[in-house]
Amino acid sequence: MPPVRAPLLRIPYTDPLPAPTLIPPSANTVAGAVSALVEFLAPTLSSSSSSSSSSSSSRSSASTTPTPPSTISTPTTTANGRGKTLLLTGAGISVASGLADYRGTAGTYTLNKTYRPIYYHEFCVNHQARKRYWARSFLGWTTLERARPNAAHEAVRRLGEMGVVGSVITQNVDSFHPTSHPDLPTLELHGYLRTLTCLTCHTAYPRSAFQSDLSRLNPSWTAFLHSMLASGALATENLSERRAKGLKTNPDGDVDVPGAEYSTFKYPACPTCLAAGKTKVEVDKDGAWASGSEGGILKPSVVMFGESIPADRKIAAETAVDAADRVLVVGSSLATYSAWRLAKRAKDLGKPIGILNIGGVRGEDTFFADVPAHNAGREAVRCSVSADEVLPEVVRVLGR
Ligand SMILES: [Zn+2]
Repeated sequence: MPPVRAPLLRIPYTDPLPAPTLIPPSANTVAGAVSALVEFLAPTLSSSSSSSSSSSSSRSSASTTPTPPSTISTPTTTANGRGKTLLLTGAGISVASGLADYRGTAGTYTLNKTYRPIYYHEFCVNHQARKRYWARSFLGWTTLERARPNAAHEAVRRLGEMGVVGSVITQNVDSFHPTSHPDLPTLELHGYLRTLTCLTCHTAYPRSAFQSDLSRLNPSWTAFLHSMLASGALATENLSERRAKGLKTNPDGDVDVPGAEYSTFKYPACPTCLAAGKTKVEVDKDGAWASGSEGGILKPSVVMFGESIPADRKIAAETAVDAADRVLVVGSSLATYSAWRLAKRAKDLGKPIGILNIGGVRGEDTFFADVPAHNAGREAVRCSVSADEVLPEVVRVLGR
């Protein structure tokens, strides 16, 4: 029986958020939203070095203003976002790729009231909780691996090439941004699912190879996965159809199977720790991690609930906010504090804020209390439409 424990932390803001007040009021149609967004993004189009910045893939673009020296070294620098628009994206931008939102119209919090993500502490100390996590992740990975970026990600790439968007901060762990626009700096605030990291030796492993290991260690689960794939339950993007077939998919790429016996699930130990022999790592006859081990636990390279964002990543995100001329939030309700505080930081610095998100946003009055009456989108924009529907059109209009 799985251990029942009270969550250490509440999932942030699972209560319904009030419906947004659209800004300007004309943003209540797709065409109105497009023109308001064009108005919002236009200043960064005119201030950018439009032709020369698009083709450069070198790290130091000669065409942009030199950025102040940074004391931090991050894999994805956001330094060339000076004077441009910073995008802050969330699960909503990946919905059109077939991944669930947390709280949109078909969101996890909306459809699955009992959904509770795993907490960092739980993952680190609880073998049973890890079995459950990896079983669900094993089933959900296929969906994520097959999912592709959508028209909104493609539009972001174009906005980067046009010099409008200088960098992206995403809360998403699906790797769609770096896949779609490798030349436009992306900071993955909450990490990514494409690799795992050993909690003991910090070696990284690709998630796809780990999936093969899980498959080998869990033949009956593999058979179940194949039957789910054959039934189409994992292939459909229709969430209600999935539920009808007994499956729920969550934005972190895991799947919920009611009544499944997670305690039989096995997962591998870190091969590096096993080979080094410095830490006590025990495995069963199949090579699966066994309790009694003192390390060698592989964790997805995501920031779990209850886990801190690495300090250098946090600083890089703040640097990107400070460098930007304005911030556009896309597909996020800012329910997670780490994202909300970045938008709040931009607001406190007097930068115009735009929000493109279906449904309400946490504390959004904070961002729009002082919007001038004449605003047509330049000072602030708030629309509640789908990003994949409007962003390609925004690109088209800005490119004219
Ligand atoms: Zn290790």
